[in-house]
Amino acid sequence: MTSSSPSPVHSIEDYSPNLWVTPKVHLRFDLDPHLTVVRADYDVQLNGNVPGPLFLHGENLEFLSLRLNGAVAHPNEYRVTDLGLEIFQPPGESFQLTVENRICPNQNTSLEGLYQSGSMLCTQNEPEGFRKIVYSIDRPDNMMRFTVTISGDPTYFPVMLSNGNLVSEGVPVEGKKEVVWEDPFPKPSYLFALVAGELVETTDGFVTKSGRRVTLKIFVEKGNEGKVGFAFDSLKKAMKWDEDTFGLEYDLDLFMIVAVEDFNMGAMENKGLNLFNAKLVLADKKSATDETFESIMAVIGHEYFHNYTGNRVTLRNWFNLTLKEGLTVFRDQWFTEDMTDPHVKRIKDILFLKEYQFPEDQGPMAHPILPKSYTEMNNFYTVTVYEKGAEVIRLLSEIVGRDVFKKGLNLYLTRYDGQGVTFEEFVSAMEEAYGSPIPHIRGWYHRSGTPEIKVTEEFDPKTKEWVFTISDPKGEGQPLVFVNSYAAFDQKGNVLDVGKRIQYGHVDQVRVLQTKEGNKPILSWFRSLSSPVQIQSNLTKEEIRILAEKEPDGVSRFFAFQNLIFSWFARALSENANESLSDILEIFSSSFKKNLDKTYFSFYLGFPSLSQISEHLQVFDYVRLNQLRNEALGTISKSFTKEFQFLYEENRKTIPMQTKEEIGKRRLKNIALYYLLHDPNRGFEQLAVSQQREAKHMSEEISPLRYLIEVNSKEKENVISLFYDRWKTDALVLDVWFAAQVSSGERKSSVVESLESHVKFTQKNPNKVRSLYFSFARNPLSFHEETGAGYKLIAERIKQLNGINPQIAAGLAKLFAQTSKQKGDLPKIAKRELEGIQNLPQISKDLGEVVGKIIQSL
Ligand code: ZN
Repeated sequence: MTSSSPSPVHSIEDYSPNLWVTPKVHLRFDLDPHLTVVRADYDVQLNGNVPGPLFLHGENLEFLSLRLNGAVAHPNEYRVTDLGLEIFQPPGESFQLTVENRICPNQNTSLEGLYQSGSMLCTQNEPEGFRKIVYSIDRPDNMMRFTVTISGDPTYFPVMLSNGNLVSEGVPVEGKKEVVWEDPFPKPSYLFALVAGELVETTDGFVTKSGRRVTLKIFVEKGNEGKVGFAFDSLKKAMKWDEDTFGLEYDLDLFMIVAVEDFNMGAMENKGLNLFNAKLVLADKKSATDETFESIMAVIGHEYFHNYTGNRVTLRNWFNLTLKEGLTVFRDQWFTEDMTDPHVKRIKDILFLKEYQFPEDQGPMAHPILPKSYTEMNNFYTVTVYEKGAEVIRLLSEIVGRDVFKKGLNLYLTRYDGQGVTFEEFVSAMEEAYGSPIPHIRGWYHRSGTPEIKVTEEFDPKTKEWVFTISDPKGEGQPLVFVNSYAAFDQKGNVLDVGKRIQYGHVDQVRVLQTKEGNKPILSWFRSLSSPVQIQSNLTKEEIRILAEKEPDGVSRFFAFQNLIFSWFARALSENANESLSDILEIFSSSFKKNLDKTYFSFYLGFPSLSQISEHLQVFDYVRLNQLRNEALGTISKSFTKEFQFLYEENRKTIPMQTKEEIGKRRLKNIALYYLLHDPNRGFEQLAVSQQREAKHMSEEISPLRYLIEVNSKEKENVISLFYDRWKTDALVLDVWFAAQVSSGERKSSVVESLESHVKFTQKNPNKVRSLYFSFARNPLSFHEETGAGYKLIAERIKQLNGINPQIAAGLAKLFAQTSKQKGDLPKIAKRELEGIQNLPQISKDLGEVVGKIIQSL
């Protein structure tokens, strides 16, 4: 929490290298949840030319002592402030500094720095949490070799972990035990980790391609040791994949993961000691959905891949966060594509980008993947930096080809091993591997907003060609490079031409020979979203329909069908008439006859959500859209009752295993149930109820609950309480239960109020807060409800969370970013509520920055 003086803005132009660095550190922790003493012994070295004052970051620390070259420093040699410790005249160009301070882990509800979760103490230091543990040069460009001594009472802390290798483990003496860890690889403070507590250790192993045996350990709270099998398998797959794909072999003899219940984010790649939100490690078939299993594999991969892209080569400054995150997301997407189905994975990633990143890019929080400035770095762990960042890396890989990409990555990792660098070093390594510069690729790092691509066409009678002009109207001042994978079709859907153009700058032309019939060809642009753009399509309904049926690229075929559905909504809204669904129904009908891959088919049949429709059309009358959506679902349901029943029966018997076949069956069975439940005659509610009762896998058990709530069934309360009775002792499953009750339908604020007084709910646990408040605020029918009651409720909760966990409070406040587009008085109400937050006497800089930006848009 900060005082009322405005927080400084950090700008990319102001970056300057460290004047001093600390290449070696020995940390000592005397652990106690109430009061932990931390000591750091640094080797300090001058890094600049002329010595000047040395500043060590430190926040919320109780300063105890400072020694310079072994001698206690005199109080007039230094100054301690709220932000750190300044030593006016360091005693030479290289010297020893020892500093000691105290912290209170169990008072630390921000979950940054050293804090308590359940019975354990653990750390989260990225980006700037280390300064809440000990005075330090807490910047990613200060690389240190760490030795860590942990001393604690072995009855409370039988397990004490840090990065690297365990080098000694003492015997308990007078209720204290000491362990020493050493990490041979230099790293910045944000990658430091410590965990201590009563944890159960589970073990597995992996032999690297050069024959080294690596010990793998997952630490969990007692009772969860049966839920680590899938995480171990995922980790071994990731290790093998990075060897096979990039030749990258794990570099320590030990790799540890700890599952933490109170965690602000997904997971953290601390060297050799990854910390994970428990929900991304623990799984068994009874308690985890197929989506959870897939996320576990992806996130375990992601954090493991950071060992090279992030840890061995790290960042010079936080502006370059996407250098490690965009790249590592791309690597984890590629991994999942290889482990599952590349088309389905690509569909999921594009859907995610469109639903979350496109709106961010158009709203008040928009920023380039390389932000120019920030007040609180925690606010920039965004879908733009991560997912759009990954799209930019994908685009680069499409330009150079995946083989050159692999060479370029290896060149980058070898050349900059042990250093903190910027996106420039990465891009130029790729250009070197490619053998040529890539004009305008850097533009992607500096331009914010999703490019809106325009296509116009003209017939050239001389050459008998159709000439398509593809332009990026905003690109004249800020040119970009695009990869445009396209295909041309005739009116019957036969392929006329397939191509891939690299467009350098704001305009390009594609020529397609006239068809035999003389008609204009139908073009599918930016197939599989070959660049992160929006395309202003001028295809007719008939043309979209042909693509939705005939596009051979499964990803683009899927999105063409979605577009056909969106275009129906657009017409139904504007004509206000009974717009016929016949095209959509015909596609349904023909798809039942095709023998599509089960998982792919389940996506293809999936009807866009209310948020997806509203985002695509930029229409914010959710009540009207929801009405239309229900009418459409009702019509589809009635038209294909037999087909859906057949599909349901065909996939009814499943085996609770994580295989492609079984996952596909569960998905198809659920989607069939979803449509059946939208039958206006409501004939299928008992089917849903019995599916829940007989479920052998969480994907089968949770879906009926979600759907019955969405359709506001009279069985709703029954299934909610049945689910609770079964799962009341499993915190992770209860998160899903809380979320399901507020995620769909018109759920009133009173539902949230009654759920938050439930014994299992607490505002201190981020997973619970995400399940209840975030899910409610992502449900447009509830949050943007016309009286503004949703805004008032969430604003109140943000105020409460500000005093508990600023990062989570700021994350929740970001959901107000779309309020300026809402109808009627809603923007006004949102503004009033946000101003109320802004006037909090103790507003955190996290929250202050977010709220300030959104208010400007209102
Ligand atoms: Zn990451």
